[in-house]
Amino acid sequence: MGLESSVILITGGNAGIGRAIASRFLRSGSVVIILGINTESGQETVAAFKEEYPSCSVAFYTCDVSQTAAVDAAVETILREYGRIDVVVNNAGIVADQLLMKMQEDEWDRVLQVNLKSCYNVCRATVRSMLRNRQGRIINISSVIGLMGNSGQTNYAASKAGMIGFSKSLAKEVATRGITVNCVAPGFIETQMTASLAESHKQAILQDIPMGYMGGPEDIAEAVYFLASPVARYITGQVLAVDGGMVMH
Ligand code: NAD
Repeated sequence: MGLESSVILITGGNAGIGRAIASRFLRSGSVVIILGINTESGQETVAAFKEEYPSCSVAFYTCDVSQTAAVDAAVETILREYGRIDVVVNNAGIVADQLLMKMQEDEWDRVLQVNLKSCYNVCRATVRSMLRNRQGRIINISSVIGLMGNSGQTNYAASKAGMIGFSKSLAKEVATRGITVNCVAPGFIETQMTASLAESHKQAILQDIPMGYMGGPEDIAEAVYFLASPVARYITGQVLAVDGGMVMH
């Protein structure tokens, strides 16, 4: 699909959905750079990828994407090293679920900073070089929760809905320069994030999924890969739900 040797920056690409996205791009010969907070898991991921794809180009940079200065420094290093960034995938995310009445200020701030401020940080640091190259793809991993809300997730839903407004606005700012900005909104996907859900909660969620089963990280990876590819050049400012039919517009 024309992404061979493109440079892809993926936040949180060392686990779950991000790791599947990284793997999808590596399989096609792209250069993959992962930004993440967990150095040990990052190094383990790079080693595993090098074993799976012996001639691949993959690197991990330790970086808390909620921190503006840390992102600026990492992107500066990456641009110096690789010369360009073609695709940005803002995937890093956390939850800190709590009913609003009991939600601590720290739980609100942390989720908004990791999930939403990281988009501002990473996009602002990378968009200038994309503008210069007159091409680029930004794909932000939102969530169906940002579209439909969920009890106990006001912080998470606000961060994920915020990503959608952010993406539509940025899409308008950069559309004439060959850069597209889209969101992928996963439904319930089997990763570490959903592994801790109680079995009764999982069963209740499955009732709301017309397809009747949880998705895999590779379902999200394929959607991201499609939006990143040249064939998706005329798609921007959109939210692609990959959710077994949970949210239908
Ligand atoms: P995960 O917990 O398995 O992985 C999240 C990754 O983000 C990890 O690598 C983690 O180290 C990294 N990360 C966390 N905080 C970070 C920070 N401050 N700086 C850099 N990296 C950081 O989660 P996942 O299920 O793979 O989720 C990936 C994305 O998909 C998240 O944005 C999540 O909100 C979204 N999502 C997941 C689901 C699901 O069902 N799993 C559904 C909808 C949306």
